[in-house]
Amino acid sequence: MKARTKPGSRGVCEPQRTPAWAVVLATAAALLATGCTKEPGVPKVQKFSETREVMGTLATITAVCGKGVDVPRAFDRAFSVLDSVEALMSAHREDTEIARVNAAAGGTPVPVSPWTVAVVESALAACKLSGGAFDVTVGPLVELWKASARAETLPSPEAIDRALALVGPSGVEIAAGPGGARVGLKRMGMRIDLGGIAKGFAIDRAVEALQAEGVEAGIVEVGGDLRCFGRIPRALIGAKATLPVRTRRLRKPRAGGSGFFPGLRRTKGVRLEDLTRWPIGLQSPFEDEGLLGKIRLGDQAVATSGHYRRFVEIGGHRFSHIIDPRSGQPVGHPASVSVLASSALIADALATALTVLGSEAGLAMVDTLEGIEALIVEGDPQRPTILKSSGFPPLEPLGASDGRSRDP
Ligand code: AMP
Ligand code: MG
Repeated sequence: MKARTKPGSRGVCEPQRTPAWAVVLATAAALLATGCTKEPGVPKVQKFSETREVMGTLATITAVCGKGVDVPRAFDRAFSVLDSVEALMSAHREDTEIARVNAAAGGTPVPVSPWTVAVVESALAACKLSGGAFDVTVGPLVELWKASARAETLPSPEAIDRALALVGPSGVEIAAGPGGARVGLKRMGMRIDLGGIAKGFAIDRAVEALQAEGVEAGIVEVGGDLRCFGRIPRALIGAKATLPVRTRRLRKPRAGGSGFFPGLRRTKGVRLEDLTRWPIGLQSPFEDEGLLGKIRLGDQAVATSGHYRRFVEIGGHRFSHIIDPRSGQPVGHPASVSVLASSALIADALATALTVLGSEAGLAMVDTLEGIEALIVEGDPQRPTILKSSGFPPLEPLGASDGRSRDP
């Protein structure tokens, strides 16, 4: 026979029992702590994303985070890294370190930050690796072709020769000193242009900033170049988020338009399980909204160069913004080059280099490099040809909802 006890009281001989309400409370607390609704121990995560205008283009950061990460702070830190790289290295602003180096060309080397010297050194290494196809001293030629576009006339062969005489990596001086490094240019009129590599460097630093804030998986994308890290739960790649980002330059919002970037967006929480690689859409160079297909990336970066992205127009003809430093002429082929690498800096520099080298020499170079793969699109919109290095990941067909949305 059971001892009858009044509610709230307990018989003296009865073993100590935890009241039901305490069990409920303790379970709820445990679930809240793990963020899990079913199996304790499997935390819940959300996908966060935000787009801002940075480095003269649009940047989107995506992060998969659980509790314990100060997401707004992590995003602010990563975006401010992108701004800092722009503030140090843009050749188009007068107040940057690179602008000061260019202004002092022919004179005394200028003190620069460790970041700027690191990018200049990497650029010189990429120049060597690519046999001179990637050359950040191409600045005088870039400026000449831009000025010609403004004047709506082709540059004369003499003007091209004069600019070519100011191009070449041997004209760059890097001096280490007690107060830090200095970068100089030996001849007056020389000009460094880090437009083909600084974005990649900035992406790498922004990824590090997110990781330092405790973000374990995400993507930093700037103007179509991106680096992924970690893995995403398959449940977060839902119907509206099949492609978190695509490698393309986004159209800018109309001036004065409001509400285009609504700040930090977030998905519902899902359990941190069934992790998968990031599906990334590769932009077709021939269609504004078209994608070639998607690839799956783990801890990898992909950068795309091509004249469909940026060009100058003279007499109704489009000329690429990428110049062959050997001839002084804008490159005509291929239409686009996407390079995969472990760092965004390498992917960015090599995508530009391969655009100059062309498909045959470019793919031959890639085949000699560990961990680098490339996909090249040639031909025209009617007859596009896709060439790939041997280890390029399979280009998967797109699903019905692919490419429609950048955010969940
Ligand atoms: P990307 O879009 O990364 O291919 O970079 C293109 C930018 O790199 C151009 O807008 C120029 O600022 C710069 N650039 C042009 N030609 C070259 C070249 N041959 N080597 C290095 N940078 C270049
Ligand atoms: Mg580049």
